Amino acid sequence: MASASTNDIEFRSVTKAYGAVTAVTDINLNVPKGAFLALLGPSGCGKTTCLRMIGGFEQPSEGTVLIDGREMNGVPAYRRPVNMVFQHYALFPHFNVAQNVAYGLKQMRPKVGAAEIDRRVAEALEMVRLGGFAKRRIHEMSGGQQQRVALARAIVNRPSVLLLDEPLAALDKKLRSAMQIELQTLQRELGITFVLVTHDQEEALSMADIVCVMSAGRIRQLGTPQEVYDRPADLFVADFVGKTNRIEATMEADGETLRLADGSALSAGKRLVPGAAIAALRPEAIKLTREMTAAGMSFKGTVTHRIFLGSSAEYAVTVPGLGDFLITSDRSSMSENHLVGPGEQVFLGFDPKALHVFPASNA
Ligand code: ATP
Repeated sequence: MASASTNDIEFRSVTKAYGAVTAVTDINLNVPKGAFLALLGPSGCGKTTCLRMIGGFEQPSEGTVLIDGREMNGVPAYRRPVNMVFQHYALFPHFNVAQNVAYGLKQMRPKVGAAEIDRRVAEALEMVRLGGFAKRRIHEMSGGQQQRVALARAIVNRPSVLLLDEPLAALDKKLRSAMQIELQTLQRELGITFVLVTHDQEEALSMADIVCVMSAGRIRQLGTPQEVYDRPADLFVADFVGKTNRIEATMEADGETLRLADGSALSAGKRLVPGAAIAALRPEAIKLTREMTAAGMSFKGTVTHRIFLGSSAEYAVTVPGLGDFLITSDRSSMSENHLVGPGEQVFLGFDPKALHVFPASNA
């Protein structure tokens, strides 16, 4: 039975081609009911195509999309329990706020009564904290307020899935951060499934419960924000989801000893095929000190740049034989290293367990 499904959205071996261009290839995906999924990846990786196939604006070339256990192939957009919020909101400029929000409800068949429409519009505007704005014209609203009108319009007919296509892209940084928190709160309150498309890793990590990292039409990793950040499946994910330092290395014949380009050796912590390898290391996993510390691994280097960011600082350090490293320090470690500057000698200390080792062919 359809309602017995615990997955709100399911992709079964979905491929979509536009003529000679294959936009997504063999996607398998399960999104539990009430989850907040982010489709994250660079431009052209197929995120929007996946979103549009859930919405019914595109049909798969192969495979099946299911919503709440029902196969959706051939079901038109207006028949799906889904609504979409677009990047540029697509509000009607000649309608006021309440008229914009009511629009979808007025089109519904069987007809929804006028009193019920008013009640639901008021409720949706309250949910997005625009209670007093019903009669305002759209051009009298700020960018963030227009975004909330678009959200109210999308939730007013109570879809079971809400699709969001880069909904915060047009907002400035401060407003975007505020809206990230609001969207997450709204999703928790409504309890409906959200699918967000974004190329901004910070946005995906801060809002979603599940992050689907994509590249070139395929899923590279699916996991919680912590999983994709702390245990990237491959070098692409390590690079795309956050910053990373790449250290060239060789996996020795025993499949366990990693020899770095400067000659130092360490245990890789996992078995890999012998040959060229890359060790990825997060900038915040490195501790910068003036004196060599006994614990963990340590490299000696020279600071080439320092960027002071207020609550944190970024350093570029050149290590002979290994190249350039990016290091981020929070305020407490900054006072410890007294804000070392360009030209100064430093030590880069880290726990070898913080290295993520991949075959170089995986780059
Ligand atoms: P962006 O972040 O730039 O929106 P995206 O990850 O959402 O990118 P898609 O829009 O899904 O990527 O596009 C995936 C691939 O499919 C791209 O190569 C794109 O050029 C192609 N594509 C998308 N829509 C069409 C179309 N209607 N006709 C032909 N090719 C298309």
